[in-house]
Amino acid sequence: MNRILKTLGICLLMAVTAAQADAKSNKIAIAAHRGFWKCEAAGQAQNSIASLKAAQENGFWGSEFDVHFTSDNKIVVNHDPAVNGVSIHDNTYATLKEQKLKNGENISTLDEYLAQGLKAKKTVLVLEVKDQGSDERSVELADSAIARLKAYGLFKPSRVIFISFNYAACKHLASLAPKFMVQYLEADKTPAECHADNIKGIDYTYKAFYQHPEWVAEAHKLGMEVNAWTVNKKADIQKMIDLGVDCITTNEPLLVREMLGKRENRK
Ligand code: MG
Repeated sequence: MNRILKTLGICLLMAVTAAQADAKSNKIAIAAHRGFWKCEAAGQAQNSIASLKAAQENGFWGSEFDVHFTSDNKIVVNHDPAVNGVSIHDNTYATLKEQKLKNGENISTLDEYLAQGLKAKKTVLVLEVKDQGSDERSVELADSAIARLKAYGLFKPSRVIFISFNYAACKHLASLAPKFMVQYLEADKTPAECHADNIKGIDYTYKAFYQHPEWVAEAHKLGMEVNAWTVNKKADIQKMIDLGVDCITTNEPLLVREMLGKRENRK
């Protein structure tokens, strides 16, 4: 009995040591949250074409952005469901298209965004399928986004990953695009629960990993990737680095780059 316990203890120690070594050595990617918008070139405009361009030019691993359906099923890029107080879901694209972002750009369509995406060969497009008020509509948006990616030749696992707070959309994407990285955003499921639904990654608020640091190793053990949002403060960035997440989504990509040094995954 003693010998069995001893062997089990050694195995456990080896597993913990391996996980710690992994956490200390893995490369960590940077995803610019809503593009690299906090710079002069982007004019502080989140989800602008200029913010994607700035992320590409700075060579970050990825650039995150959010998409919504207009009432006539055009996909536009914006975080909130309204732009300058005008609801995206309740208006046609013709009504919305003149709405300006902070840097003077008009709100962009997904097509315009993808055209910019094509201009850099490496930057991964981190496409967030925004909840559209129902599972059905969110799934429809996911389908439509895939059709646009295909039209631009960007429907490739090396060029795009999908993220969503809508679990039905994540499950749908995972079944429709099994080779693609799909990450669930709401930290209300364990890695194992997501894995059971073939979802390959978790992209949770960094606060969830303070509460559940074990989820990083758990996800890795299941072959999943771990992304943390939106990590902007030095102490939180350091904590995520120490935990060995695979990607840090941030409004401060240059700060994360400085802290990661050689550990940055530039792809
Ligand atoms: Mg987002």
